[in-house]
Amino acid sequence: MTVLKLENIDTFYGQSQALFHVSIDVRPGEFVTILGANGAGKSTIMKTIMGLVKPKTGRIIFNGTDITGLPPWDRAGIGVGYVPEGRRVFPDLTVEENLKMGAYRVTDNKVVTANIEKSYDLFPRLKERKNQLAKTMSGGEQQMLAIARALMLNPKLLLIDEISMGLMPILVNHSLSIVKRLNSEGITVLMVEQNANKALKVADRGYILKTGKITMEDTSENLRNNAEVIKAYLGE
Ligand code: ATP
Repeated sequence: MTVLKLENIDTFYGQSQALFHVSIDVRPGEFVTILGANGAGKSTIMKTIMGLVKPKTGRIIFNGTDITGLPPWDRAGIGVGYVPEGRRVFPDLTVEENLKMGAYRVTDNKVVTANIEKSYDLFPRLKERKNQLAKTMSGGEQQMLAIARALMLNPKLLLIDEISMGLMPILVNHSLSIVKRLNSEGITVLMVEQNANKALKVADRGYILKTGKITMEDTSENLRNNAEVIKAYLGE
């Protein structure tokens, strides 16, 4: 059984092919990372899973259902949470308004309020700043907000696009520890990341993506000890 299965995905931007026969499995409760250099196609995988770009061929199976043709909002509705690259929060909305936007499909206000309270427990800083405009917050706080917003629909699977981007190392560690905690509480995680060192410390398993192709797949431990991976992604 898998939570998410990508089968032979080919994704194009116009004539230019970004993903080549990408197949990925994520099992219930796993924390899986996809590592790759700038431009390898990491964000394209996330966008393809979310339905923001359409694959030319291949299938996306979520919890046993083929969702390849489903619009993004329906994917969010059935339990796919998405934290986009660059913390795309709504800059001119307050923290709390951003969270409410994340819960736009929830019609029961009690559920919305309960989820907002859960976010504030997880990120006390967001509670302190709930009436502050998102654009006035630091990068680390915006990252917390982006994660909290993705949690508003109680996702079963959380897709995370490059959490480390533009954050100071200490904030990267903090964000990753939050994701690890969410994972240990039962949310399955698929995270694409350029910072292989940090990603392999928190993930159970990893894939290597090179110019749109999966070239390797193994446990994080084996990848950390693989000479080729060390040379290309972990540095000396
Ligand atoms: P980064 O670390 O820079 O985010 P990435 O691994 O996420 O890189 P993608 O953003 O998925 O890579 O890009 C993969 C390839 O697709 C790159 O060659 C990129 O130039 C190209 N690409 C991405 N988005 C578009 C687009 N909207 N139109 C055309 N080409 C695109």
